[in-house]
Amino acid sequence: MTLTESQIQRYSRQIILREIGGVGQETLSQSTVLVVGAGALASPLAAYLVAAGVGHLILMDGDKVELSNLQRQFLHTTQRVGMAKATSAATALSQLNPEVKITAVEERLTADNAPQWLPQCQVLADATDNFASRYLMNDLARHYAIPLVSGAVLAFDGQVTVFRHGMDPKAPCYRCLYPQPPDPAATPTCATAGVLGPLAGMIGSLQALEVIKCLLNIGDSLAGNLLLVSGLYGLFHKVTVDKNPHCPACC
Ligand SMILES: [Zn+2]
Repeated sequence: MTLTESQIQRYSRQIILREIGGVGQETLSQSTVLVVGAGALASPLAAYLVAAGVGHLILMDGDKVELSNLQRQFLHTTQRVGMAKATSAATALSQLNPEVKITAVEERLTADNAPQWLPQCQVLADATDNFASRYLMNDLARHYAIPLVSGAVLAFDGQVTVFRHGMDPKAPCYRCLYPQPPDPAATPTCATAGVLGPLAGMIGSLQALEVIKCLLNIGDSLAGNLLLVSGLYGLFHKVTVDKNPHCPACC
């Protein structure tokens, strides 16, 4: 495959990066990424992946756009309140870059529908807001042997990491970090504790960066580390994540 003149112009600022170049751009254009969730994290995450020229983006979300989403989920618009979020996001993304194939799936990711979407993907990105989905994606990333780029936000705080346990048996997984789901009744959510839009924007952007690094195999990924962000105090901490010898998924 050869880049067209239009593609060279569109992607010129990243093609001139030594780590990407024309070869990297072609690799991006031949890549498929599954982003699960079409909300606050997915807004910057999917937008940057599409803008960068990832070949095929699959976007899954079973919810509809609500007015309370718009403060942080900028792929959606006031006019599209009530529309399926996957389709609303795909509408914005296809305008951003019509060269990218975008598949909007108006369903949650489940163990039943995963075989339809996962086998074609090189990276799985978690842009959801619930623990059930995170544990499911952890299992799927292992099964399909692809990296899982994970992000989470609440209030002014966020975290991002990459799990490579599907490709490296020595690598920690999500359950190594969080062996058991917390009690839902005692767990704050964005609906109960709030979340600020720019914080979600930072975490989703970091996820996009990690996805691109995974696809191109450049730099040092956050695999084995958890990047913790305190938006309110401007603090970034990177902590090591070890494999848990008692992990219910790894043992
Ligand atoms: Zn584990």
